[in-house]
Amino acid sequence: MLAAPMKNGVIFDIRKYSIHDGPGIRTTVFFKGCPLRCWWCHNPEGQDVEPELVYRKSRCLGCDECSKSCQREAISLVAQSISVNREKCVPCNNCCRVCPSDALSIAGKQMTVKEILEEIEKDRTFYEESRGGVTFSGGEPLMQPDFLNALLNECKERATHTAVNTCGFAQYEIIDRIRDKVDLFLYDIKTMDNRKHRKYTGASNEQILKNLKKLAESGSSIVISFPIIPGINDGDKNVTRTAEFISSLPNIQQVNLLPYHRAGIEKYKNLGKPYKLDKIQPPSNQRVKSVKEKMEAFGIRVGIGGG
Ligand code: SF4
Ligand code: SF4
Repeated sequence: MLAAPMKNGVIFDIRKYSIHDGPGIRTTVFFKGCPLRCWWCHNPEGQDVEPELVYRKSRCLGCDECSKSCQREAISLVAQSISVNREKCVPCNNCCRVCPSDALSIAGKQMTVKEILEEIEKDRTFYEESRGGVTFSGGEPLMQPDFLNALLNECKERATHTAVNTCGFAQYEIIDRIRDKVDLFLYDIKTMDNRKHRKYTGASNEQILKNLKKLAESGSSIVISFPIIPGINDGDKNVTRTAEFISSLPNIQQVNLLPYHRAGIEKYKNLGKPYKLDKIQPPSNQRVKSVKEKMEAFGIRVGIGGG
């Protein structure tokens, strides 16, 4: 039985059978809203807390049904595709309902703890067979702390393995409150260079690194995610500083290197947001191997990709 009352949360996706967000087969729940704005983010629909309209131009038939349904006059047809005035859009979902080709949808919806638990529970057999569980990701799950805490409490009652994927930019009290209910933290380090961190994520790395140190010293199990963004954080100096810092911490199981990819670019267009890393290409295999070897030289276990 659920303990009542429970808060709602805003979720933008629930992905089943995930094998890159922690051990075994997992269900990953994506919280909407993030305090950072990383230029390489491949989930831009997870950045704003509020639900938002997604328009896939490639599916649009130019039929104009959507603009007729919009009571706020937020849509206009321009040369067989539509233009959305996002200042006016609520979003109410009316246009999505009438669109004949699924070109319109809303990213993000309010869900209750009960609804999410029902989704998680559907795949319990897979978790048990694969030693998997549930991962709370985003966006940033720590931005909805009460909702996250309520979900973790319920998962622990059911003995479900829990992971929290976080950028670590939060008050430590929030992390401390959930710590005992999290079996594994997947914790991002973007760059040790604070000037670059501010420029490319919109925030200082001081609190993130301080929180990581405290969390590691508190005994929590942690896997570090390190994105490799060519020309931004893959220089030898930054890789060495990152490895030095990580190797000074207890309870770090592994570092996962996440090579930059361009898979999320289309999503920015669909949301009407600018993509700022247009000129950067994914790192070569050789570069990824070199970063891996540099970190391994510090005695760190290093993998490539999630998991
Ligand atoms: S979601 Fe609602 S307000 Fe926004 S464009 Fe569609 S119909 Fe208009
Ligand atoms: S209703 Fe759908 S297909 Fe028709 S113009 Fe609008 S977005 Fe395009």
